[in-house]
Order: sequence, then structure tokens, then C-alpha cells
Amino acid sequence: MIIDKERFNELKKDTFGIFNTVSALARFEFGYSEFKHGESFNLTLVKGGVLGDFIFKPKIYISYNDIKDVSIEGEKLILKIFEEDKLKDIVFKIEKSDILEKVYLVLRQHCNLGYKEYSIEAKVNEEVKVSKRKEEKERIKNLKKEKIPYCPKCKSTQLTNTNKKLSAGRAVGGAALLSVLNPVAGIAGGVVGAVTSKKRYNVCMNCGHKWKV
Ligand SMILES: [Zn+2]
Repeated sequence: MIIDKERFNELKKDTFGIFNTVSALARFEFGYSEFKHGESFNLTLVKGGVLGDFIFKPKIYISYNDIKDVSIEGEKLILKIFEEDKLKDIVFKIEKSDILEKVYLVLRQHCNLGYKEYSIEAKVNEEVKVSKRKEEKERIKNLKKEKIPYCPKCKSTQLTNTNKKLSAGRAVGGAALLSVLNPVAGIAGGVVGAVTSKKRYNVCMNCGHKWKV
């Protein structure tokens, strides 16, 4: 339910102590029309229930007695609650998977719901990310070893080369920047951009990055 700041401050005092109170940075997802989807807040599990602290806004309090089920789906924590004679879903998002796990387990315990197996998708995603990063590192290491040129920005090996100093897009950008400083130089900047030079430049065909050979 939605509570005011005074009630919130009262409930906030009744924690399990500094070391045993579970707290998390969360995002509001679904369930109360007072809050926007994605709005961030601080979630704390106090003695009587779940407290949600939104800055400069009303606060949330959900008594453990009203929570009928708690589950995890991806990064989301789903509470089935019975409030004002209605059964409804309240959904929060907790991005850090270890904290989500902790909130889930402690919450089930406080609500006397018993243990229920769960899977955290976010954790799996994290593992995939780590292995992809490793693969990419290995690929770059091999490129260096084989002396294959690659884009320093996006690491693509799809390169071409040119003797044009600046691409049309960059010349326009340069001119626009210069024209802020000096309107006359701005025009000159555009011209310089199109001038060819003896130097060769590599151009990445993937991201457009250009650098001296
Ligand atoms: Zn690139």
C-alpha cells in the first residue's frame, strides 16, 4: 500500500539491524499507478514488511502477512499480494542478480512461504557476456599475432583505405564545430575536409572510423 513519509519513517526504524537488514536498489515495474515504470527506488526488508523508498514521492509498504507468493522471472521479483480485498501482482526489477537472489530468499523466509527452486536468467546472461568477452579477447590476440589490421574502435577487420583526409560526414562536423568558433573559418573547415593528401588512411567499413596507416 501507499504510505506517507511519516509512517514510512516510523516503519523504517524497525529493521533487523545494520548487518541483517536486506536492502537493494530496485526499479518499479508494475502494480501501483502512483509510480512510473522504470522509476528507481530503495527497497528494504524491515521487520513488518517490504519498504519502498521513492525520493520526493509517496512510499510503498507491503506487509509480509499480505504477501501470498514471491517468484523470480528474469531480473524481476514478482509479489502476489492481497491488498484491499484484492489479489494483485506487484513487480520490481533488481538488476544485480546476487542481490535479487538474496531479496527473494529472505522475503520467502519472512513471509513463511517455504523454499521454492528458482532460476535467475540474469545470471545466465552474465555468464554468456563473460564468455563472449573472453572469445573477443582471444580473437584480437590472434589478429595481433597474425599481424592482421583491425579497427581500433570496433575491432572489425573489414577495412578499406583512402587518401581523403576527412569523410564528407566528418568534414561537415568539422565545419559545424569551427563555425561556432569562427563563422568564416567554418567554411574553410569544410573545404579542408574534402582536400586530399599524400597520406593513406584506413577506413573501417563497419563503424566508419578513420585513421592514419
Ligand atoms: Zn570500426
